Amino acid sequence: MDETALDYLQNTFGYSDFRLQQGDIIQTLIDGDDAVVLMPTGGGKSLCYQIPALVREGTGIIISPLIALMHDQVMALQQLGIKAAFLNSTQDARTSRQTEDDLINGRLQLLYVAPERLTTGSFLNLLKHTRISLFAIDEAHCVSQWGHDFRPDYIQLSLLHEQFPDIPRIALTATADEATRKEIKHRLQLDDARLFISSFDRPNICYRITEAQSNAKASLLRFIQNEHENDAGIVYCLSRKKVETTAAWLKEKGFNALPYHAGLGADVREKHQQQFLKEEAVIIVATIAFGMGIDKPDVRFVAHLNLPKSMEAYYQETGRAGRDGQAADAWMAFGLQDVIMLKQLMADSNADEQHKRVEHHKLETMLGFTEITSCRRQSLLTYFGETLEQPCGNCDNCLSPAETWDASVAAQKALSCAHRTGQRFGVNYLVDVLIAKESERLQQFGHDKLSVYGIGKEYDAKQWRSIFRQLISRNLLTVDLEGHGSLRLTEQCRAVLRGEETLFFRKESKRAKTQRKGRKSYNTEKAANNQLWEALRNCRKQLAEENNVPPFMIFHDAALAEMMERQPANREQFSRISGVGESKLEKFADAFLHTIGEHIDNEKTAVSDTVSETLLLFRNGLTIDAIAEQRKLNANTIYSHLASGIEQGEVKLDEVIALDQQEINVIHEALLSFNENDRKLKPVFDALDGTYDYNTLRCVQAAVLPA
Ligand code: ADP
Ligand code: ZN
Repeated sequence: MDETALDYLQNTFGYSDFRLQQGDIIQTLIDGDDAVVLMPTGGGKSLCYQIPALVREGTGIIISPLIALMHDQVMALQQLGIKAAFLNSTQDARTSRQTEDDLINGRLQLLYVAPERLTTGSFLNLLKHTRISLFAIDEAHCVSQWGHDFRPDYIQLSLLHEQFPDIPRIALTATADEATRKEIKHRLQLDDARLFISSFDRPNICYRITEAQSNAKASLLRFIQNEHENDAGIVYCLSRKKVETTAAWLKEKGFNALPYHAGLGADVREKHQQQFLKEEAVIIVATIAFGMGIDKPDVRFVAHLNLPKSMEAYYQETGRAGRDGQAADAWMAFGLQDVIMLKQLMADSNADEQHKRVEHHKLETMLGFTEITSCRRQSLLTYFGETLEQPCGNCDNCLSPAETWDASVAAQKALSCAHRTGQRFGVNYLVDVLIAKESERLQQFGHDKLSVYGIGKEYDAKQWRSIFRQLISRNLLTVDLEGHGSLRLTEQCRAVLRGEETLFFRKESKRAKTQRKGRKSYNTEKAANNQLWEALRNCRKQLAEENNVPPFMIFHDAALAEMMERQPANREQFSRISGVGESKLEKFADAFLHTIGEHIDNEKTAVSDTVSETLLLFRNGLTIDAIAEQRKLNANTIYSHLASGIEQGEVKLDEVIALDQQEINVIHEALLSFNENDRKLKPVFDALDGTYDYNTLRCVQAAVLPA
């Protein structure tokens, strides 16, 4: 690995190691080669171009379509002492000119530009006179004409290869599918680039789904109150009206909840978004429009009050939680009503039939996902073409297994039915065959003569549809979209058909409650247990306000947690906290060290308070046992208080323990010989063969060898 790269990682960014593929990607660019990087949200894509841009000579040009993000990234880099700037349409002409001037004079390490700016003749001309270290194309899936983020300007980016053939390029995206990947390679002329595909698993996100028939809002409130009282989160709703009512309702319950949807004025949306970024514990209630271009790392939960319309949407929306890698929840409660509403929206859309069928299938898959009783993560990753060998242990189904029934026979019937009818029909038709519905179409095909005709009368049509959905979601059946949604058997279904595999499906009637007990979220837990956590957050908040940046740009929660655990006492110790580089050490160490020092002093005062109380009772003539009982403390604790009293000269040793001078001398001798300056009493206790108990030893130590 390149030494300079490691040096930047550790001293500028303050991290000790590269994550998974980061090192290889960075080396590829340093070597002057191209890379295509597929990495999930929160995977650490930015470092992949930031570090090689710092290592290589010249300015790194980063093309990003999201203006708000650009601004945030540049701010964050400046906090690290990196010379970064951006160029986009929101700036005035003077600022732009200044930035261009800095660029051409080699004063910038990183420059972020919007694609439409990059492709202008004048800017390209400017680049021709600039020393460039690399081009990074962020959100590279925007080049795909089939995706919903398509940007025509992105297509033009192939000119980078034509006009700057010697400068390495890196294209990055969090979109996983193969079609998009191919399009990126092809359209950006990155055919020779090295491809880096990371796992799309987000292990820190806990997936939980409940079907809330009547009161989804009440379970949302319980969820937030129990697990995320002081956290930032996003609540997604399908309609604007539901956004408004839910936000108002949460506000009434005492949470700082703000609505966000396309019906609000741009200024209101901007204001709410800024509050979400800059203040702590803000909950945004939003339609799915919210999230794109928000790079807040410490979103602790994403809650869905409606069913997302596809697995892709679910993955993307839930993925906004826990970018910082700390524990986060993806929670969902939805009702049958949502499904009907989504289907209506799809039916009413102007899309062509083919398109509608695809959307319909995606919704069915999403529904299937809600019903599975096996590990959610395994199923989610399977959908994206990945395999997770073991159940994850961090989803509702892993944590509290749902009530299930043995669906093996039902599954065999359903699979046989698809098989016998030639794998040419969709769910509804197959259900008709199974329950022997009178139908002309069925008779025309002669399917009323089949052995499977009417073999499923023990269930009704709704139950069968649920069975089919679960079969599809487990990949025992696939939907052939070009063939009008007909169901086909997969390789995996053979074991089930042969009776070699038992299938358990989620029980429809009584859905197991999946709310977890005893697990509070990261923040709430710390807040409840530790005043230092609150003090550190306050310190961060104050610095954020002074620097006019969001708190997470000062330090992430993970860094605060580490400070809490290690309680660094000086700059050197502080510099070892993850996320502390040279620049942040310089700017923030003193404030945090002061906060930590103050906290330690407070704790000492608190300790001396409890000691004083014991001493007072002791002076009033109470026995040690009586003090212990009155104070509801252990007798050993009272002895330790008295030892402190002895040490401070407030109590005399012989008031507490009756020993003659010779005994005291023996113990004194043993203390000097065996406790090796660390004040541990066990070796002394052992050396004296247990003649004196620990309380006695402690009190003598306080008298003869005060700390
Ligand atoms: P992405 O752009 O892929 O969503 P980011 O680049 O924003 O992800 O990184 C996500 C988080 O992980 C950031 O807070 C970043 O500082 C952190 N991070 C990235 N690489 C490392 C690393 N090697 N060690 C520790 N933290 C890292
Ligand atoms: Zn799981």
